[in-house]
Amino acid sequence: MRCARPAASGRRPPWARRRVAVRTGAHCPSPCACHRQRSWARAFCRGFWGAGVPSGGHRCHSAGVTASDNPPPIPHLLLAWYDEHARDLPWRAAPGEAAPDPYRVWLSEIMLQQTTVAAVKPYFAAFTKVWPDVHALAAAPEEDVLAAWAGLGYYSRARNLVKAARAVADMGGFPESEAELLGLPGVGDYTAAAIAAIAFERRAVVVDANVERVVARLFMIEEPLPAARKAIRAAADTITPDERSGDFAQAMMDLGSRVCTPRAPSCDICPLAGECAAREHGPERLPVKAPKKAKPVRQGRAYWIERDRCVWLVKRAPSGMLGGMRALPDDGWSARADGSGDPPLDGEWENAGVVRHAFTHFAIHLSVLRGEAAPAEPAGSGEWWPLDRLDEAGLPTLFAKAARLAQAAEARLL
Ligand code: SF4
Repeated sequence: MRCARPAASGRRPPWARRRVAVRTGAHCPSPCACHRQRSWARAFCRGFWGAGVPSGGHRCHSAGVTASDNPPPIPHLLLAWYDEHARDLPWRAAPGEAAPDPYRVWLSEIMLQQTTVAAVKPYFAAFTKVWPDVHALAAAPEEDVLAAWAGLGYYSRARNLVKAARAVADMGGFPESEAELLGLPGVGDYTAAAIAAIAFERRAVVVDANVERVVARLFMIEEPLPAARKAIRAAADTITPDERSGDFAQAMMDLGSRVCTPRAPSCDICPLAGECAAREHGPERLPVKAPKKAKPVRQGRAYWIERDRCVWLVKRAPSGMLGGMRALPDDGWSARADGSGDPPLDGEWENAGVVRHAFTHFAIHLSVLRGEAAPAEPAGSGEWWPLDRLDEAGLPTLFAKAARLAQAAEARLL
């Protein structure tokens, strides 16, 4: 039996205040001793801590869970800090408020993979304007979604986004458990845990790069990454509460992004400073990272072919690097090999410069060559795209840079 009505007297700590406020309305039919001791003990009676309560706690007879007058401090301190300092983000609910739309949580989490909040915000606004719910996104042509994604990078995310939206629409809505969420294309361990916690208030251990850093420091885990991930996850599990786990996850992310930053953690203003094992031991060195391997550098060529104020664009193969996206024709470079150097048609080519671009596992030096199209079409399939609408073509960043270089070279010649 669970109760939700706060006791009439006594002080609640700040972390309990908001949650109890949004959960009032049901009367506790079975007042018990723990309710009379401290008003915020009712939060425990709703299973606030459930598993993982500290030793020495007392047992609430009506709820069947253990409460404590000395609950674990890290979640308390962090949630109290979050209640005051949570970032205002367009995909979030305010601390303690009802969970946000799972579509918005999912979309933001996919966009935020390997990408900053600042870069994601305009894309999130544009996507939710054009496709306000998962059904609208499921009905969208993949090429429209790829074009809208252009510039955000890691384009396999966009293709998986469409596949996952269609799967969710077929299911009639988002699944709520981590295990089911993991079955969606593009949803890995972290994303499944984040959606389960934030959108469905399920207890889930959410560990992204920010959380990894905070936990490595709090518990002074000195084993190098990636081997340390197991210990970091286990440590994160010990401090994840049963309730408000979505707020807790977002609080950890905010702390990592604003306070416990990689190079200069602001320990003086950190709400967890008193609990942090690494604070006095050079926290900025944690987590220890394995030495970076040098990325291979590939050489390739891209071709800017112009005719009648249009440029020749091709559609890349559906799978592989930048799969399914519009691009300038190139000489077949890949993550594993340099390009052939062969142009798509014979003729005079002018060197417009070199684009240097880094992908996750390699870098590319892409020479950009300009030429005028002969009366014959270039080899392979493609389309003449108007230059004054080039920003609507959805070119991925590498080819958008190449296009700018080619146009700048032309401007120099005029
Ligand atoms: S005390 Fe410093 S190192 Fe420890 S969690 Fe806070 S900001 Fe990070």
